[in-house]
Amino acid sequence: MSDLSWRTKRKGYWIFKEGRIKKDLENDKRAYFSIESDGKTHSVIFDKIKESFACDCEFFSLKFRDCSHIYATKLFLKGGEDEES
Ligand SMILES: [Zn+2]
Repeated sequence: MSDLSWRTKRKGYWIFKEGRIKKDLENDKRAYFSIESDGKTHSVIFDKIKESFACDCEFFSLKFRDCSHIYATKLFLKGGEDEES
C-alpha cells in the first residue's frame, strides 16, 4: 500500500498513537474495529479470509484505497511498527 499519502499515514498514525482505536469483536473470519476520528466513529472490518480491510468512511467508499482508519488498524494489528521503517 505504498500509494498512501503521507497525510493519510500521519492521520492514521496519530489515531493509533492516541489510542482512538479499539477492537470490538473477532471471530474466525473477521475482526471488527471502531475508530474515533474527527468526532465520528468509523467501523473497520478486517476480512481474515481475503486478508482485506474495509471501512465505512467516505474516503474509502469513494476511492477504494486504504484510509487513515485502515492504516491505523494495520498499525494496531502490528503493534505499532511503521511499514516503511
Ligand atoms: Zn476510513
